[in-house]
Amino acid sequence: MSSSALRVQPHTVAAFDRIGEENAFAVLARATALANEGRDIVNLGIGQPDFSTPPHVVEAAVKALRDGHHGYTPSVGVQPLREAVAADVHRRLNVEIDPGRLMIVPGGKVTMFAAILMFGEPGAEILYPDPGFPIYRSMIEFTGATPIPVPIREEHGFAFSADEVLGLITPATRLLILNSPANPTGGVTPKAEIDALVAGLAAHPQVAILSDEIYDQFLFDGEEHATLLAYPEIRDRLILLNGWSKTYAMTGWRMGWSLWPEGLFEAARKLAVNAWSCVNAPAQFGALAALTGPQDAVAAMVAEFDRRRHLIVDGLNDIPGISCATPKGAFYAFPNITGTGWNSSKALASALLEEAGVATIGGPDFGVHGEGYIRLSYANSADNIRKALERMGNFLATARAA
Ligand code: PLP
Repeated sequence: MSSSALRVQPHTVAAFDRIGEENAFAVLARATALANEGRDIVNLGIGQPDFSTPPHVVEAAVKALRDGHHGYTPSVGVQPLREAVAADVHRRLNVEIDPGRLMIVPGGKVTMFAAILMFGEPGAEILYPDPGFPIYRSMIEFTGATPIPVPIREEHGFAFSADEVLGLITPATRLLILNSPANPTGGVTPKAEIDALVAGLAAHPQVAILSDEIYDQFLFDGEEHATLLAYPEIRDRLILLNGWSKTYAMTGWRMGWSLWPEGLFEAARKLAVNAWSCVNAPAQFGALAALTGPQDAVAAMVAEFDRRRHLIVDGLNDIPGISCATPKGAFYAFPNITGTGWNSSKALASALLEEAGVATIGGPDFGVHGEGYIRLSYANSADNIRKALERMGNFLATARAA
């Protein structure tokens, strides 16, 4: 950006120099390029379900177009969809939320974009999980705020620690970002830890909370989702991020929702009016069918992910030098590779793609605390997972570590 002859404001140039990326998209592009050259690539890089959107959802969107839903909708989303989100949250999580504070937004990312824009400015500190979804840090840096990583540790079950989070809060802290079940680790933070965190937050009323619960239905071993919505004492400063991308295999539809506290809802609504007007109308009707129709496709997908989870964890642990904790949520395995002799996780991920034909993501793409790990998405067929494991085992047995 800085070499451009275009007259962009200096502060804008600086902000765009700071904005980051999501390397999963770069790995996807490279994996696709290699496949187009005729290479046989198993892609465990990108995090999207390999299932199709349930047919009744597709039909509802097609019908909406045929019925003439081709125009603008209210910028906060169509009312039946907002009410369906509130009903779904009540059915699943047993909490009441006000549909009047719900915004239908184009994907999960949009909520973090809006929330971080609202709180980020030079001098402000924003806490975010590391390793964690890369866009948190990228957006924090874009705003000029100071990113404060909350280390997410294997020895703590990849859950965040309430004590550690509370210990990082300063008078400059404006926003705390939480994510459970988590990307990239699959970690699930126990309810007791969240209880302790919420209790401790009472002493820090200036801190807003963004809880990214986009994987809330991807839970295994009988885990129940511990939502931040269950704490009335923080409702006036909680922003909740969720959406359809993962749960209903709808990543390309760009459908998300967020709940905003009263004091922020108007700001979020105005941002929508300025930036995207409204979400694609037929997609909203598809999303409505997803929530109000049968949920068996979700259950079947989660059951299948559970089978693959065991397959991938067992297979990874059979490879000398790799140790993989069993993730309790999402659809990622985050094995520790420090015993392989590879000192750089990104170098290993790159070599696995280029030389073994297996796309994974290096842990540092999710933050400095991701060094020593790689992320594998098991949103791929059992056959492909077996193939990837075999290739990884053979590669590590023969290749020289870099
Ligand atoms: N939050 C987390 C933790 C994610 O892993 C992702 C996608 O991978 C998102 C949000 C963004 O979801 P969407 O594709 O709906 O923007």
